[in-house]
Amino acid sequence: KIKVQAKSISFGYQGVNILNHIDIDVKEGELLVLMGPSGCGKSTFLRLMAGLEQPNDGEILVNGVSSADLIPDCGVVFQDYSLFPWLSAEENIVLALKQKLKGKKTKKELQLLAADYLGLVQLGHAVKKYPGEMSGGMKQRAAIARALAFGSDLMLMDEPFGALDPLTRIHLQDLILQISQDQNRTIVFVTHDADEAIYLADRIVMFSTGSQGAVTTSVDVPFTKPRNRKKLFSSSEF
Ligand code: ATP
Ligand code: MG
Repeated sequence: KIKVQAKSISFGYQGVNILNHIDIDVKEGELLVLMGPSGCGKSTFLRLMAGLEQPNDGEILVNGVSSADLIPDCGVVFQDYSLFPWLSAEENIVLALKQKLKGKKTKKELQLLAADYLGLVQLGHAVKKYPGEMSGGMKQRAAIARALAFGSDLMLMDEPFGALDPLTRIHLQDLILQISQDQNRTIVFVTHDADEAIYLADRIVMFSTGSQGAVTTSVDVPFTKPRNRKKLFSSSEF
């Protein structure tokens, strides 16, 4: 299980402050939702958590170890999906599985597993498609499948359901809740959708833009899991 502590993180591009002494504790197994106005620095913060950028000030500790000293083993779903365009949906997932399983499975086994993950996000029909042949929502779902396949205990998800139709979105929200509850993964999830935030979150952290960059406020969601949402589907796939 993973916990992450951001301690007084400041970050800027070309001398312009984006994040101003951000303190956030993500507890073990927590599903933390980040919200805040467009451009305030949420994606930037996730990039810092993923170790893709280094803060100008402060530090991020992953289970007590500075993230500057390790490549965090995290599953990420970024806003731009970041699938490899020269690989099919299946090959994108197989690559993640290879990194994770380090040669313990045959190619055929990896392909079958990849198909399972694509099935979870209802892309079972599109395993051979390349990102250039997929719609925005399909790419988004393939990116989610890849993050699930990577199977890390820390998942960073940047508006992962932004481009999805409402029914698929509901499916995937329930899938994420199920993963969060059953597998106790730590999830940081950015969304602009307040209903989604309240449905998913153990806790919501609001970013707001100050004169020296974004600052945060934490909001505890005032009810406990599990939630009851009327079952819309009698689906077996989840
Ligand atoms: P949204 O909700 O629209 O996704 P966000 O909260 O994720 O917004 P970020 O993408 O983190 O916002 O951007 C925060 C700020 O950093 C913005 O003002 C943006 O213009 C700036 N910014 C982001 N990337 C770069 C970059 N590579 N170089 C310079 N400035 C950048
Ligand atoms: Mg963003």
